Amino acid sequence: MKTKVPAPLDKISRPLLRWFHARARSLPWRDDPRPYYVWVSEIMLQQTRVAAVMPYFTRFIAALPDVSSLAAADDDALMKLWEGLGYYSRARNLKKAANLIMEEHSGVIPKDFDALLKLPGVGRYTAGAISSIAYDARTPAVDGNVLRVVARLTASREDILRDKTKRAVEDALAVVIPKDAGQFNQAMMELGALVCLPRAARCDECPLAALCRAHAEGLETELPVKTPKKERRVEARTVLLIEQDGRFAIAQRPQRGLLAGLWELPNFAGEKNRAEILALCKRAGLSPKSVRRMKAARHIFTHIEWHLSGWHIRLSDALKGSLREPPASYDAAPLPPLTWAAREELSAVYSIPTAFHAYMPTS
Ligand code: SF4
Repeated sequence: MKTKVPAPLDKISRPLLRWFHARARSLPWRDDPRPYYVWVSEIMLQQTRVAAVMPYFTRFIAALPDVSSLAAADDDALMKLWEGLGYYSRARNLKKAANLIMEEHSGVIPKDFDALLKLPGVGRYTAGAISSIAYDARTPAVDGNVLRVVARLTASREDILRDKTKRAVEDALAVVIPKDAGQFNQAMMELGALVCLPRAARCDECPLAALCRAHAEGLETELPVKTPKKERRVEARTVLLIEQDGRFAIAQRPQRGLLAGLWELPNFAGEKNRAEILALCKRAGLSPKSVRRMKAARHIFTHIEWHLSGWHIRLSDALKGSLREPPASYDAAPLPPLTWAAREELSAVYSIPTAFHAYMPTS
């Protein structure tokens, strides 16, 4: 069945590309769009702004300059490069995908959309972006920016969070996408990032204003239609900064779920009071010489909001000895298995997510 292309999408490519060539921001992965750079930058840009990604991208590429070095990267070193960028599963998926590229594609990032889709961490948007930007394949790359721009251009009231709407936009753009597909896709994204902004569209600067139906009908602020997101779940947690002789207890999170496999300060569901903390120390065989409440903090994930309280527990000298291993008197129930790290190791060796930064020891 022939795809119906809503007006004015069949007329946008020329004015859009002219504008993009004059206004495009210089970005390292744009100035040198080799497939590896495009892939790494697209993964970093998922959920993260360009300005925040820049220093991470530069550091990442300097440390792991190609697919083979990424495939061989040490997990802790990889997490260290990603520390602070959030959504750590992206880094783990990058490495898994690099291994798959080495094994199944002789180290060459595939050009084909369906082959790209098989890589861990690569969805339809990212596959379209890599194949078009790195290889000029005529595949659309439809992200939130592009959906917004298209909804406004066509004055569409379809909910842009629905898969059906995304597919319809992909199908329509696949018909109109020009030969320089990578430039076209980047121009659409750039227009959404710089001009057709979510809250205040800058229609007077827009190269497509004369074609735009939302602008003609005064609907810029009403569109696009989005179903309201579910509220975040709020969870109270108590974080422990356990210190002995200048070393601090950390634990590794399970390999699945939130912040999988990363290191953390020991923490528990619920807000614990002093009596409960003292009881926990007793059950774990710890002899605190001081227990001090730390300031409250918050950390927001996509679907969960942590409301954190913290306690700084200084242990008496009774537990001196092998600081790398948890003392034999700890049992698994009150505390997870602990590793002890010096202050410098906490920042230089272990990847501790920003969720715990409010409770990290300061120098
Ligand atoms: S004219 Fe305004 S609403 Fe239409 S695409 Fe341009 S910036 Fe967006």
